Parts: sequence; C-alpha cells; structure tokens
Amino acid sequence: SKASAQNVKLTPMMRQYLDAKEGLTDDTILLFRLGDFYEIFFEDAERGAEIMGITLTRRNSIPMAGVPYHALDNYLPRILEHGLKVAIAEQMEDPATTKGIVRRAVTRVITPGTITEDNVLRSSKANFLASLHIGKKKTGLAFLDLSTGNFRILEHSDPHNLEAELHRANPSELIIADEIEIDSLPFSLPDSTSISPIPSWQFDSDLTEQVLLKHFSVTTLEGFGCRNQNDAITAAGALLDYVLTNLKRSADHITSLGLIQNTDCMIVDRVSQRTLELVEPIFRDSKNSTLISVLDECSTPMGSRLLREWLLRPLTNIEAITQRQDTLSSFCSDQMLLEELRESFRTVRDIERILTRLNLGTANARELQTIAWALKAIPDIESIISYVDSDLLSDIKSRLFNFPELTDTLLQALTDEPPATLKDGGIISDGYNDQLDHFRKGSREGKAWLARFEAQEKERTGIKKLKIGYNRVFGYYIELSKINSAQAPEDYIRKQTLANAERYITPELKEIEDSVLGAEEKAKALEYELFQELRLKVTEKTKEIQSTAIALAELDCLANLAYVALKRSYIRPQLCEEKKINISDGRHPVVEAAMDAGIFVPNDTDMNDHQASINLVTGPNMAGKSTYIRQVALLTIMAQMGSFIPCSKAEIGITDSIYTRIGAADDLSRGQSTFMVEMVETANILNNAGPRSLVILDEIGRGTSTYDGLSLAWAIAEHLHDAGCLTLFATHYHELTKLGASLPKVKNWCVAVHESKGKIIFLHKIQAGAADRSYGIYVAKLAGIPKSVIKRADNILQDLEDINGNTYVKNKKKSTNSNSEPPSHHSPSLFDWQSK
Ligand code: ADP
Repeated sequence: SKASAQNVKLTPMMRQYLDAKEGLTDDTILLFRLGDFYEIFFEDAERGAEIMGITLTRRNSIPMAGVPYHALDNYLPRILEHGLKVAIAEQMEDPATTKGIVRRAVTRVITPGTITEDNVLRSSKANFLASLHIGKKKTGLAFLDLSTGNFRILEHSDPHNLEAELHRANPSELIIADEIEIDSLPFSLPDSTSISPIPSWQFDSDLTEQVLLKHFSVTTLEGFGCRNQNDAITAAGALLDYVLTNLKRSADHITSLGLIQNTDCMIVDRVSQRTLELVEPIFRDSKNSTLISVLDECSTPMGSRLLREWLLRPLTNIEAITQRQDTLSSFCSDQMLLEELRESFRTVRDIERILTRLNLGTANARELQTIAWALKAIPDIESIISYVDSDLLSDIKSRLFNFPELTDTLLQALTDEPPATLKDGGIISDGYNDQLDHFRKGSREGKAWLARFEAQEKERTGIKKLKIGYNRVFGYYIELSKINSAQAPEDYIRKQTLANAERYITPELKEIEDSVLGAEEKAKALEYELFQELRLKVTEKTKEIQSTAIALAELDCLANLAYVALKRSYIRPQLCEEKKINISDGRHPVVEAAMDAGIFVPNDTDMNDHQASINLVTGPNMAGKSTYIRQVALLTIMAQMGSFIPCSKAEIGITDSIYTRIGAADDLSRGQSTFMVEMVETANILNNAGPRSLVILDEIGRGTSTYDGLSLAWAIAEHLHDAGCLTLFATHYHELTKLGASLPKVKNWCVAVHESKGKIIFLHKIQAGAADRSYGIYVAKLAGIPKSVIKRADNILQDLEDINGNTYVKNKKKSTNSNSEPPSHHSPSLFDWQSK
C-alpha cells in the first residue's frame, strides 16, 4: 500500500489507515470502520472488491470500496475462501463525543480457524483450527474449536497414524512452521483445510509451554493428563498463541486441554471416512448420501456436532456401547417420555457457541436471552430423565448444572424481544433497576410536558399549525410556517430559517430538553452497563455451563438415536467378543431412506472365522454388490457407536478397524491414475488390516488388464485370508469364485438375477453360491449395444472360457505357501488380442 500511497497527499484518516495496515501480513485484508461502513483501500480495494463482489471506486485517486457494517457476515466467508485473512479496525471512540478524528485500531484478525460468527459457521460441524509440530521423535497435533473452547492434543511417533485424526477433525485451518514443505508431509491433508505458515520459532518448546501455563494459570500441565506429550503440547502452545494474537484479547472460555483418546475407538481411516460417506458426501451437492444425514435429527446444534464425533469414532468397548444401547432401549420403550424430552430441548439453542461469544464480548442481548431460556429448561430435563434407570443418564445428570437464580435474574432483566444492538436501549425491562426506571420516568414526563407545552403555545399564539420538532443539531424547537412567523411572540428566539418555515426556541424549552434528552441518554448508557453486568454473571459460570452444554449434547444424541431407531424401525444389535458379523434382513440405511418404504430388498450377512472370513460377492453390474458391502460396513459402525441398526436381528463381533477400497470418481482429480490410487489404498489395507479388521473391497484390479487385475485380486484375497480379517470382496471376476476350492475360509455369495427370454431382472438378493458367469454382455445388451456386437462378444467369451475354462482347477498343484494357484499367464495370442 505504501508505494501507491506515496503518490497521493494523505489525509490524517489515510495516515491512520496505513498505520493500522502496518504489522499485518500480506495475505490480510484490512476492513476499516468509517461510520456505518467497513472500507478497504489501495491494493486491498483492488483485490478485495472483486472477491467480495462490490464496486471499486476512487477518491482523490485512491482506490476504495466498502460494505455496510451490519452486512459483514456476508462478506467474511468470501474473503476467507480465497485464502486471505481479515483484519477489522474499529472506531475506538464515539464519533458523537469526539472532537477531531476518531481513533481507530485493529481489534481482531479473522482467519478460517478463528472465526466465531454464528452466521458463518456450520452449526452441525465443529470448526477446528489445527496445529502441526514435527518434533525430533514424534509429531504432535493440536485442535481447537474456538467457537466452543474444545481444545485437544495428540502425538505419535509414526506421523502416518495422525492422518485419520486430521481428516476426522477436518480443520478449516492448519498452522505449521513455515520451513516445512506441505508436499513433503508423510500424509495427506483434507482438501478444504487452509494452510497458515507461521515462523518456526513460534514452535519453540519453552515459549509454547509458557503460553499454555499462563493462559490456564497453572504451573504444570499434568493436571490436564498431558504428561510427556511434549510435541503435542508445543503444537498446542503455538496454536493458542496464534489465536490470542489474532483475537487481541483473552479467551477465557478455553478452560482446559484434553488428550485425544484413540485406544477405545475403532480405526476408520481417511479413505473409509470418505468412501463410506459417513459425514461428507463424495459429490458436494449430494448432501443426502451421507450416513449422518439419515442419523442426525438432533434437537440442538451441540447434539449434531457430538453425533458427528460419535459416528467418526465408533467404540470398541462393549460395556460402553451397551450403556448407550441400554439408554436407547429405555427411551424406545417409553415414547411419551422420549417425546417430552425432545420437546424440552426446543428452547435449548447453541449455548456452547453463544457462551463463547459472551466471553469474547461479541454476543448481544438476544443471545444472552437464549442462554437464559436454555438454562430454564434444565430442571425439566433433569426431572424427565430421572424417571429412567440408566447408569449413563445418572452420569449425564451429574454433569448438568442448575442455575435457578441466574436464570430468574436474566429473564426478569431482559425485555421480551431485545434488539440486536447494545447501545440503543430496549434491552432491560422496567422494574429491574430503580435508577433506570427513574431515567425512563424523567424522559416520559419530559415528553408529556412537551405535549402540554405544544397545546399551551398553540392557544397562546392562536396558531393552530404550531408544532414542536426535534433534530440532532438544534435539539427541540418550535416551528411556525413562513406566513405565521409574523405572529411569533416576543420571547421566541429564532434559531433556523427554512424555505417555508421558521424555527424558534425558548429558555423553558431548552431547560426541559436537557432533562428529557439527558434522561434518555443516561438510560441507554445504564442499559448497556446492566447488560455487561448480566454478561459477567453468565461468563463467571463458563466452566459449569460448558459442562452442562456437553452433557446436554450427549443426552440429545441419545434421544436422537432412539428417535431415529423408532422412526426407521431399527433394532438393537447384540455385540460380542467373537469374530463374526451376523445380520438378518439388513438394510442400507442411506439407500433405504431415499426409497419408498418396502422397496429396499433386505439381505443377510453371515461372516465368521470358520468358513466365511473371505466373502466373495459376485454378480453383474447394477445387481447391488456395492450397496451390500457398504451396508455391512455402515451397520457395523452404527452398532459400535451405540446406535440401533436397520435389520431384524444382528450379532456383531467387536471390530477394531474398518478398511475400505471402493472406487470413487473424485480420485481422478488428485492427478494420480485411478489404478495407482487403487493400489496405494490397497497397499495400506494389506499392511494394516489385522485379525479384528473388517475389510471391504470393491472391484479390485479393474483399472488394469484382465490378467493383471485378476492375478492381483487373487493374491490379495489370499493375503487377507491368511491375515484372518473379515473381508467382503465384491468382484465381477467370476473366475475368483474358484478360490473357494482351495481356501477353507472363502465363501461365495452372489446376487440373484432373474433371467427370462434374454432379459435380466435385478432382484438385489444376496444368496450363497457363486455366480456362474459374468453378466457384462447382458448389461451391454440392455444398454443398446448393437446386436451384431453382442453376438460377437458372446462368441469371444465362449472361446475364452474354453481356453481358460477350468485352468485354476486343473492346474491345482501342491503349492508351498498358499493352497491355491493363481491363474497363469498363458495364451499369448489371447493376450495380444486383449491389448488391441
Ligand atoms: P453393483 O455394485 O452391483 O454395480 P449397486 O450396489 O451400485 O450395484 O446397485 C445398483 C442399484 O441398485 C443402486 O442404484 C441401488 O439403488 C439399487 N439397489 C442396490 N441394492 C438394492 C437393494 N437391496 N434393494 C433395492 N435396491 C437396491
């Protein structure tokens, strides 16, 4: 800005602007408050106007643009989406009472991870700021949701293990030392995360620890259970410092630091989070394709956010899962109670985020009132759940705090519909404060006096059209039209002449003016003060209200899962330690929800460690293979999060990790070949899947030649067989079904297809046994491929099957490691034909 600023003569205001600009990074747009607008100047105006979609103008050859101050929330996301930050410079003095130019200063810098504006945030998703520190031995991660104060850390010696956590949190912003090259990180970052490099020294271990100790006013972090988490603590300290620097004030709602516990939950890695569409759709606009879209009917935003976490962090501890199930069972067996509970949640809004804004001083009286309504609902909620005998509910109840006095005070103090602004009055009810009532009375009486005065002057002068008016410059005046002004009494003092009227004052009028106006101004100022007092009464209880909010979120989640179970006829699965997944009449929750009732065809699942650890599902395209194998993964996840599931009966052995390899179109945009992506993901599965993993593989080997693909699929199936994990393997290579002949734990399933007169009907029914052929040619026929081509394809298929036919079975020799013999490369003529 300096360069272009030098060519123009600077007004004091512009000098003030450039001072504010000093010390901001280049990627920061400064919004400078001038009256009712935020203005941007110079280069900021040039780049900002376009991004914000506002008109660029010039004044004294300085480029400028502006937005109304109350519309700020509309523009913030646009700027942040472009990878820029926003600094806000406010007026630090009241222009009405300041002589000369008003002092202005940067009061806040907003970045994607430090935004707290409710209109900008998604209510059902936490907004995490993450910080990554690569230490000598370990890599540390810290996450803070500034909008709620949720602050957690994690570290690991193998940074790869942090990837799932990063994707689970899906932070909007990540801070990282500027010397680290993003491309050299050993894991991928979520696409939507914006990277903010900061100087490396800000990750100094002593410095960062001091920041945390000072913020929490403690001498050691051990009380937070963060012993020996040095690299994670460094990440956390750098993060907190970044936040406080940008906020330019303390953040007292960040009351503790927690350790992310990963030992008690199922590993759902980055790929599975995405391909199973647990919380985010693969295609942006298909919002209803996610599991959360079916499961989330929570009453509060806090509940929705927690449900998302439960879904991404299914439990592995049977006792903990059973506790949730027991509560759901109680709720489901007493629908009246459930309804009453959900109804009592109606007045509970996002108190977690409002509490934060009250702490940061950005909340208004309406939000304060919202807190009051939520607190008022707590005794009801407590009494409703006390009817239910459940350990989990007793625990939740013990974390609910009751604030009867505070609630009463707030509700008495605040008017029924407080305005959105804090300085224009209308916040505090009559009868709450004597002084305020006195000022208001003064103002009211003054106005009554004015009315009497007007009537009296009309009579005295005989001028019917005489009236009392008011403006900011002259205060109260008496107005006479030009014609009548000749009759103005002697004691009228002329103050202003208009085109067809004259305005006068009298000493009496001025005297009452002081008391009327004075009283009004004093009342407004007092209301603002009283609001701040109320605000403090609430923020003093930050810890207790936060605890209450979290307990309410849990309760909401449980009530929600019970509600969804009843609504969608889900039943309680039985969990066990054995290695098995046994489901009768299972349904895919998301596909089913999109269909009319009764259309979805239920299917059984019977996987175990004896004869069915590798489950091959064959069948033509469009038969329902993918739907089926995903369904099993989704039901397992739901069962372990404590939810009921769509089926008639289920027994599910605790699964410690889910790995999936399912083709997804978005891989193409990542610049790797589809086949490469497929192999990378498969490698990850083969290297990590263990005996208690559930592995879902869809069409492995499709991206390469038939022989490559088939051989790979074969070998992969063998590997998984030996690793002992429960696997569902959907494939169109019906040759693979021969695996069962040599591997004891392979079981073949196929999707039933009804064939008549050359037409096929998909029944979507999974049944035991192998599909005897590929239906590719049938599908091609349905799609309208010319008859001659279909006929020729039929012939070629016949030939191929004659050549390969029973190769695997015929060639079955004693092999050393594995019992089965992969298909051999033979018939060069055939292979040549393939590649043409
Ligand atoms: P495949 O993986 O075998 O190609 P999909 O699983 O993609 O097949 O299913 C194809 C279509 O059939 C899907 O669009 C889905 O709506 C429908 N479908 C799948 N399974 C069922 C089912 N059990 N009941 C009803 N419709 C189903």
